[in-house]
Amino acid sequence: MATVTAKDFATATPSWWCPGCGDFGVLSALKQALAELGKQPHQVAFISGIGCSGKISGYVHSYAFHGVHGRALPVATAVKLANRDLTVIAAGGDGDGYAIGAGHFVHAVRRNADITYIVMDNQTYGLTKGQASPTSATGYVASVSPDGNPDSPINGLALALAAGASFLARGFSAQPKHLVQMIKMAIEHKGFSIVEVMSPCVTYNKINTYAWFKEHLSDVANSEGYAPNDRSAAFDALTREGSIPMGLIYQEPSRFRCVHGARAGSLQRPPVLNHTVQPRKVLCVHASTASRFCLRVRCQRPRRVRHQ
Ligand code: SF4
Repeated sequence: MATVTAKDFATATPSWWCPGCGDFGVLSALKQALAELGKQPHQVAFISGIGCSGKISGYVHSYAFHGVHGRALPVATAVKLANRDLTVIAAGGDGDGYAIGAGHFVHAVRRNADITYIVMDNQTYGLTKGQASPTSATGYVASVSPDGNPDSPINGLALALAAGASFLARGFSAQPKHLVQMIKMAIEHKGFSIVEVMSPCVTYNKINTYAWFKEHLSDVANSEGYAPNDRSAAFDALTREGSIPMGLIYQEPSRFRCVHGARAGSLQRPPVLNHTVQPRKVLCVHASTASRFCLRVRCQRPRRVRHQ
């Protein structure tokens, strides 16, 4: 089979984005990552929500689905269940993932299906002309909040960690090589992986610019002794004031996870932050549900089968 290049993932669809939008960097890194992983376009399904960033599914030559606002993840999960040979990638913006789709987000995280989710965070609602989004800073001045955003921003990666995330990374659309690396690692991770990309909106967000992100982002790889498999360290990094951690922030050492504690006795289970179990002791959590297949990573068995 011929070698795949990033160009093989290009479409003829003209880009709708404003010149200089950070989403261009994400698109470019994504295509490069897929090519470097040797994926063919027919092996990839790309699912996106609504928003400027949601248009990305039209710009990647692959199976694609541009869904409604906040609904990329349930569609992506269904696609993965229907054909687990596909590399399934979901994408959207901070509003799509952390506001309208927030309910789907935490449940997709805890189910840990083998999907990669790319969140393009520009800290504003670009498509609808710059209103404050869930990640906008308190005081952010927008068209509908001229006195400043009164709300506190959501910390999407910390939320995901609390929900039991098995892979968290952050990149910057102006650092393409690093971003390619993060996306490749996320796709190769067996489980639900999140890559949040700081992706400036050059048209409406005049505060969180490329220069602002360069000043505030710091790679955890440069922090002495930082271990990406240490959940507590990841939570500290994500919630520390003053800087925005980037790089591989957390990857669960074991890719197996009991995702339906309720069926296994949720009252006895440990706090979610410590909720890691040994593979051999995991009961297939979909064994008695209406799901046709178990969602557990790499599980190939039909329902009603117990893994001992
Ligand atoms: Fe990008 Fe902002 Fe333009 Fe949307 S409005 S395409 S986020 S620069």
